[in-house]
Amino acid sequence: MSEFLKVKGLYKSYRSGSEKLDILANLSVEVGTGQIVAITGASGSGKSTLLHLIGGMERSDAGSILVEGVEITGLAVHQLAHFRNRKVGFVFQFHHLLPEFTSLENVMFPLLLRHLPYREVATKARDLLEEVGLKNRLNHKPGELSGGEQQRVAVARALIGRPELLLGDEPTGNLDEHNSALISSLLMEVHRRHKLTSVIVTHNSRLAGLCDVQKCLSSGKLVENKKTLS
Ligand code: ADP
Ligand code: MG
Repeated sequence: MSEFLKVKGLYKSYRSGSEKLDILANLSVEVGTGQIVAITGASGSGKSTLLHLIGGMERSDAGSILVEGVEITGLAVHQLAHFRNRKVGFVFQFHHLLPEFTSLENVMFPLLLRHLPYREVATKARDLLEEVGLKNRLNHKPGELSGGEQQRVAVARALIGRPELLLGDEPTGNLDEHNSALISSLLMEVHRRHKLTSVIVTHNSRLAGLCDVQKCLSSGKLVENKKTLS
C-alpha cells in the first residue's frame, strides 16, 4: 500500500499569557492510501489541533506533513488554500451548516465559491444528497432537519469537492446512539465508495472499531491502540 499521508516530528504549541502549552510534540504517523484511521484521546490532548494541521487550516511549529509526497508545511498561503479546497473534506462535530440555506444550497456552497456553473453544481449536490439518503430533503433548511440528517448534509458537503482526504472531528459527537450508528456506517460507506483516505477523531467505540487502525493521542504523540474498543 502506498503512503498517502506521512507526518514526521510534528510540533505545535500555543501561547497562553506567558505560558507555552506544548500540544503536539514530535508526533509521527503514516496513513496508507485508502486507509481509514481512528484517533482517540482525552479531551484537550490535541486531536482537533492535529486534524487542523493535516488539513492545512493551521500551521505547525516544526515537523513535516507530506500529502502524496507534497510537503504542505512549506506551502504559501494561497497554495495551502488550494490544497485544502481540492484535496480535503472536513466533517465537524457540529454540522456548521448555514441556517438560511437549504440542504441543496449548503452542499453546493464549496463549489459555488469556486465559480463553477450553477446547474452542474446543483446536479452534483443532488446526487450526493441522494447518496446520503436525503433525496427528499433537498429544500429543507437545517432547522427543519434532525441532528442525524444535518450531519448527512455535512457529509455530502464534505464530498462535493471530490476530496481525497476526509477528516472527521468527532463527527458523531453530537448525536444520539441510533444516529451515531447511522453516521458511522455512512462514513465507512463513503470512505470506500469515494476511495478516500480518512482520519477520524472519535470517542465512539463502534466507529473506531470499524476503522482499519486505531491510534490514541497521548502526551503529544500518537500511539497504536491495540486493545479492542468495545
Ligand atoms: P482535543 O481536540 O483533543 O480536545 P484541541 O486540539 O482542541 O484538543 O486542543 C488541545 C489543547 O490546546 C487544549 O488544551 C486547548 O485549550 C489548546 N488550544 C487549542 N487551540 C488553541 C488556541 N488557538 N490558542 C490557545 N490554546 C489552544
Ligand atoms: Mg477536539
